[in-house]
Amino acid sequence: MKTEVRRRDFLGTMAGTAAFSVFPLEEEKPELVLHNGNVWTVNAREPRAQAVAISRGRILALGSDADVLHLATATAKKIDLGGATVLPGFIDAHSHPAQAGVMHLRMVDCDLRSIAAIQSAMRERAAKTPAGEWVLGFKYDDTKTSDGRPLKIEDLDAAVPDHPVHIQHRGGHTVYCNSLAFQKAGITDKTPDPAGGKIDHDPATGKLSGRAAESASELFNKVIPDRITRDDHREGVKLISKMLAKTGITSATEAQGTPTDLLAYQDAHEAGELLCRAYCFINYHYIDSMIAAGVRTGLGDDWVRVGAMKLVCDGSISERTARLSTPYEGRPNDYGILVMTEEELYTYGKKAHLAGWQIGTHSNGDVGIDTTLRVYERLQKENPRRDPRFRLEHCTMINDDLVARIKALGAIPTPFSTYVYYHGEKMRFYGQERLNHMFALRSFLDAGIRATQASDYPPGEFIPMMALQSEVTRTDMKGNVWGPKQKITVEEAIRVGTINGAYASFEENLKGSLEAGKVADLVVLGRDPLKEDPSTLVTIPVERTMASGKWTFEA
Ligand SMILES: [Zn+2]
Repeated sequence: MKTEVRRRDFLGTMAGTAAFSVFPLEEEKPELVLHNGNVWTVNAREPRAQAVAISRGRILALGSDADVLHLATATAKKIDLGGATVLPGFIDAHSHPAQAGVMHLRMVDCDLRSIAAIQSAMRERAAKTPAGEWVLGFKYDDTKTSDGRPLKIEDLDAAVPDHPVHIQHRGGHTVYCNSLAFQKAGITDKTPDPAGGKIDHDPATGKLSGRAAESASELFNKVIPDRITRDDHREGVKLISKMLAKTGITSATEAQGTPTDLLAYQDAHEAGELLCRAYCFINYHYIDSMIAAGVRTGLGDDWVRVGAMKLVCDGSISERTARLSTPYEGRPNDYGILVMTEEELYTYGKKAHLAGWQIGTHSNGDVGIDTTLRVYERLQKENPRRDPRFRLEHCTMINDDLVARIKALGAIPTPFSTYVYYHGEKMRFYGQERLNHMFALRSFLDAGIRATQASDYPPGEFIPMMALQSEVTRTDMKGNVWGPKQKITVEEAIRVGTINGAYASFEENLKGSLEAGKVADLVVLGRDPLKEDPSTLVTIPVERTMASGKWTFEA
């Protein structure tokens, strides 16, 4: 079977009618033909194919080898896939790539499995850093080192005595520092806790333990020099887009973007360094100037596009501040927090809604989701828009009523894809009953809601194969099962990670499935996830990733 793109469809998706006179379709020949593949298209009309013909970054035709190979003229490059599995490129619908990229550029990645490993990584960076300058780390997770205790000030002093050391926890709410860093921040054993923060002490000696939480980290932020240039932001995007491409991701959403991030994506793209398409949300703080400049959701091109306005309703799941209707396990008076009031959400939401923006609101707990839905329902009632595609960022803890309202509104949830697998140990604070209502892909899909794959990197891992395993098995890396009622099939998880992500950014006609006329964004895998034991999905190697017909990663 073969679908060759019809002339009008193909040209209709190109940049305007000028393409018609310059490149008549009679001369449209593929530059590249991938053949002998096991292609899962995520297109219900033609779910399987063997070969894909690509021209100028788009899919020209796909079908059997016999049907597609004959299109290849002498100049076309042919690649024999040797039976390898091909899927559409994955779409990460909520993460923080530009911001993470800058962190990777300046900081040591402390996602390591022992204190000794962290010490040696910090020591190595210090050796390349002039004495007295800060050595920074991030992604440290005290629950993931083999030592069974958190980092202490002595560990960091022993590793790096002559530089101030500052390491952020993966969750982003606590920091771990050495003696020189505390000295530079003006903190002694006697310094009182600032409002809304905590400086930890060794209970036996009363001396600083090395850890500071919440607003206490501001004391360090004041003295760590902020020397991030426009070039650094571009370099950060270059670096992170390379990391994403390596795992099979071809599009990502910057979920809390700023004008600086938007510029960084444009700079990287112009320099030919952007390997992953970006849908760049804009934080509500900047919405007035954006609207004044005539900018709204959708402005941009296939590579860099303005996304939704971002609002924040409640707190976090991993750090247990999401707003719940029933208290956290073992903390009878703790229901989590609301970050913005309903009236504030409505005021900003109305501005954006009237100006034609999509809105994405961070809403984790059932109370947070309820509040956000009430705001969206009111906006639609007062000023109905045909297809606003309201987004519920994370949308973690649901019930039947919330699901029905999400469906009625046509809203899009972006639940954490890898939390069950990667952060399972943090889920016990919710209890098994509630886990069956969290990251609730089964409930969303059964209701006909187009939920997405979303890593929230850096807090969550972005590897798509890990997302598949997490969503299909609901099992963490130690073998514990969390909320088994929400299991979905591998095929469903692939749809969630591809076409649903495209829909969430109004780009379902551009990408998210392999169809003639769409961009040639795909991933070549070492094994077929549909034939794999679900407990080993995460080990499937990515052999190559392609975006717009060019390899963005080759193993
Ligand atoms: Zn986020």
